[in-house]
Amino acid sequence: MKKQNLSNIPADAAARREVPAVICYPTTDLPHPDMVNLARARANLTKISETIIPPRDACCFDVQKGHFFRINSIDGPQVGDLNIWSKTNLTEHFYAGKTRAIHGTHLSTGDRIWSSFPAMRPLATISYDTLDWYGWDDDGGSVHDVIGTRCDPYTAKLLNGVDYHHCCHSNLIRALSAHCQLDFAKAEPLVHDVLNIFMCTGFTKDTHQYFMKASPVRPGDFIEFFAETDLICGLSACPGGDCSSEHSSDSAVCFPLLVEIFNSDNAALDNFPYLPKSQYRHLRPEGSKLNKNKATPRISNEHSKLTPMALIDRNYKYDFND
Ligand SMILES: [Zn+2]
Repeated sequence: MKKQNLSNIPADAAARREVPAVICYPTTDLPHPDMVNLARARANLTKISETIIPPRDACCFDVQKGHFFRINSIDGPQVGDLNIWSKTNLTEHFYAGKTRAIHGTHLSTGDRIWSSFPAMRPLATISYDTLDWYGWDDDGGSVHDVIGTRCDPYTAKLLNGVDYHHCCHSNLIRALSAHCQLDFAKAEPLVHDVLNIFMCTGFTKDTHQYFMKASPVRPGDFIEFFAETDLICGLSACPGGDCSSEHSSDSAVCFPLLVEIFNSDNAALDNFPYLPKSQYRHLRPEGSKLNKNKATPRISNEHSKLTPMALIDRNYKYDFND
């Protein structure tokens, strides 16, 4: 929040502040999804299944590569917390922080759901969003954020001293545990920062704190995703309801969410540009793959005189065979 100014203001403070801002991750050269053919494909969808997410609870569901899944508002304004895992490796999951760094704080049609390191590939693309009209409001708020992590019982305990068991974090643990037959201790570390479906959020203009306001979602609205690999998704109907007042309690009015999964046999998808897992390969200590018991070389006095790049040249080699 930086409310205090304990340090001395330098004489050139204004000049330092006036340097131009630069986009950290320009998207000009980012591989883009084929939105033209996605639009053609989604014009001819066949529903395969549907799942109701009860209020203050979560469910997991599988989505096959090449299928679409849609999260619908049905009975009333309701926020959902979404987790996405690769079905074949649960440690590869949605990376909210990197997705935010690439696409911005709030997502909509055409943005991709990037996965964690080392895979870092699109797990899904947002193919349609009925709330894309919202844009940015006068408070700087928008919909579908990737900044809010998820409501959780630890922060609730810290701030309110209560033990609340239906936070999205806890709901997602129970849902993943049941879906994948994992005990809670194994499921909890796999639950990750979410995409806040339908939630309207931003940062206050004075203190830059995370705020929420009543979601503009209404029954009939939906956000839709195109799965770019086989997925397990977890969705929690947040105990905050429309998140207009508070979460992490039973005080808000809550509604269910509807998940629908669709297939499209449209040939437009035949050449969709699926991205492979990242082709980056680490620098590894020489021989590390063959000599796992070999102790990590210590940096000797001789090495300590070398520059970091010289150390890399001397002790490491590129490994392209992983
Ligand atoms: Zn929540």
